[in-house]
Amino acid sequence: MRLIVKNLNILRSILNAINTSFEVKEIVESAGDNLPNLFQFSALGVLWKEESTLYLYQEESCPPSFTQELAVNMVRVFSILGEEPNDLSRVTLQVEKRKLRPSHMAMDPKATLKSYLILPLAVEEEIVGCASLNSDQPNAYDAQDLQFFSVIGYQMAATLKHFQRFSSVKTMAVFDTLTTLYNRRYFEERLVVEAQKSFYGGSSLSLVMVDIDHFKKVNDTFGHTEGDKVLQEIASLLKASVRKKDTVARYGGEEFILILPEAGVEEATMISERIRKLVEKTLFDVGQAHINLTVSLGISNFPGHRARTKEDLVKMADQALYDAKRGGRNRVCVFNPG
Ligand code: GH3
Ligand code: MG
Ligand code: MG
Repeated sequence: MRLIVKNLNILRSILNAINTSFEVKEIVESAGDNLPNLFQFSALGVLWKEESTLYLYQEESCPPSFTQELAVNMVRVFSILGEEPNDLSRVTLQVEKRKLRPSHMAMDPKATLKSYLILPLAVEEEIVGCASLNSDQPNAYDAQDLQFFSVIGYQMAATLKHFQRFSSVKTMAVFDTLTTLYNRRYFEERLVVEAQKSFYGGSSLSLVMVDIDHFKKVNDTFGHTEGDKVLQEIASLLKASVRKKDTVARYGGEEFILILPEAGVEEATMISERIRKLVEKTLFDVGQAHINLTVSLGISNFPGHRARTKEDLVKMADQALYDAKRGGRNRVCVFNPG
């Protein structure tokens, strides 16, 4: 009875550690740190399907051949569960080595996998991965171990599922799904940060608003789906044309916006011209046809244009874009207070 109470207490602290983890690696570590109080094991493995990663928490004297054997075994069992990945070459190994045994009980360099417990990690009928306890000793686990490990596995699965939901919400909140560029919401947040840096720190900041010329014609002629592909291609051209510190976002339908920190009007013009020329000389595949397209670009700058707020900067870039359209399209215009 006392043993059960002790084990339940250990179990409770393991569950708590898992529950308060912030990433998969942390789950594995917090479980690994506490598990030796409950089980004898040479390695704890967590295969997380979403990342195709196998996280291992193992005895420091664990020989590479043992690690390999248990990894192959886990992937094989996971495949039997009917889930990808089914091939070790597609799985990344992340290994944490810890001293789980006293030195005189170090693992034999020729140790092989003698016993293991593997659990599917399932939540709401979805298998998100699997977890295993592995030992170089025969008959290391019994039915009670399986029961305890199942409770731990259940908590791991629930926490992993929570991460999965959280990361997809995070991705949706930041990226535009069609172009994978940043979305407008992220642009607004980024602009707050960059405008503050620039307005208070005095460094230059440029915005470039980009709009595809006569894009409606592409849709009307080739259909919306082909139009979408063009948007994706232009998005990659934009990404390829800017510096590392720049932000490229989809501002609206076929409008994009660039934040260029520490870029004066001259540098912003250079980057904009590079984009304009690149689009002009690119042949876009639409259905069976190849077509030419152009873009118009408007630039605003702080402190050059005396913007007082970030909204001013956006309006000025928009105004410059309007000038570029009115001036005949396929051109770059810098804001002119005129
Ligand atoms: P201008 O040179 O004056 O910019 O002409 P335009 O035809 O590009 O401008 P307009 O604003 O009249 O049309 C923009 C078009 O962009 C209309 C809309 O159908 C299209 N569009 C907006 N968002 C999307 C999208 O997500 N996918 C596709 N395929 N088309 C889009
Ligand atoms: Mg437009
Ligand atoms: Mg347009």
